[in-house]
Amino acid sequence: MDFLRPASWEEALAAKAEHPTAVPIAGGTDVMVEINFDHRRPEYLLDLNRIGELSEWEVGQESVRLGASVPYSSIMEHLRAELPGLALASHTVASPQIRNRGGVGGNLGTASPAGDAHPALLAADCEVEAESVRGTRLIPIDAFYTGVKRNALEPDELIRAVHIRKADGPQQYSKVGTRNAMVIAVCAFGIALHPETRTVRTGIGSAAPTPIRAKEAEEFLNAALEEGGFWENGKIITPAIAQQFAALASGACNPIDDVRGTARYRRHAVGIMARRTLGWTWEQYRGVGRTLEGAA
Ligand SMILES: Cc1cc2nc3c(=O)[nH]c(=O)nc-3n(C[C@H](O)[C@H](O)[C@H](O)COP(=O)(O)OP(=O)(O)OC[C@H]3O[C@@H](n4cnc5c(N)ncnc54)[C@H](O)[C@@H]3O)c2cc1C
Repeated sequence: MDFLRPASWEEALAAKAEHPTAVPIAGGTDVMVEINFDHRRPEYLLDLNRIGELSEWEVGQESVRLGASVPYSSIMEHLRAELPGLALASHTVASPQIRNRGGVGGNLGTASPAGDAHPALLAADCEVEAESVRGTRLIPIDAFYTGVKRNALEPDELIRAVHIRKADGPQQYSKVGTRNAMVIAVCAFGIALHPETRTVRTGIGSAAPTPIRAKEAEEFLNAALEEGGFWENGKIITPAIAQQFAALASGACNPIDDVRGTARYRRHAVGIMARRTLGWTWEQYRGVGRTLEGAA
């Protein structure tokens, strides 16, 4: 196995163009496991750790440009206000050691349906900045996941950053696991309220071949909130609306039975998480969100 160690982003793109089968390694918390278990024996490893800019982020007007290798621990520490859903999801990843190494670029690279960043990214809304020597393109997150552990990257492309919409309202992330830490999700749910556009977005993890949004649940809720004037009057969401949202979220799942849980349990748990996280975010919106909006 050859080890390529580019000193700059341009060198990394050139190396990937020359060796499209080279496997990028960032934190290595997925790649090294696969190599150790002999699941993968790449001809080339492309080490991205000398490229400092991949561990940096910029907070813009509308979005955060998050370098592909920014570790989860930095997101938790520095971007809690701008990216609350992703910060909560980061908290649930593995252990402090893994959170200091692993990042969103690696989670996207692996594209496991159980990756914790995905539901938060889907709910917040973001674009993946992919680059090759041929140029740069922004891939909408909805088009990024193409199959079980497959993504929309071309063989010569690398992820440079993720452009994540800054929170304009409350966000939540909920995960079911067999214990509190060091656990892969049995299933997970992310939700983001977007009062500016009066929309709610969702993300579901580990309950379908890819991370998905519960689109019918979103459409139902968006219409119900609009119809009832909920965004203005800040009324408590009725149990009937919350239940229907939960049922549609549960219906969006297409899970399998595996060692971590049954398909039936996953559908059930996603419904529960959808109802609970909607309640938490809406309470936050009623309490703080609307006061801030009114004051602006
Ligand atoms: C003990 C343990 C516990 C874990 N627990 C969790 C958990 O709770 N939740 C969770 O979501 N994950 C978990 N993981 C998996 C892993 O930590 C995450 O997926 C993490 O986000 C991977 O990031 P990384 O930088 O280490 O990626 P790496 O291992 O370096 O790379 C992962 C994949 O992404 C590709 N890649 C990396 N960077 C780029 C780039 N810039 N452009 C293109 N492709 C790239 C690699 O080629 C590889 O295919 C766990 C892993 C371990 C070992």
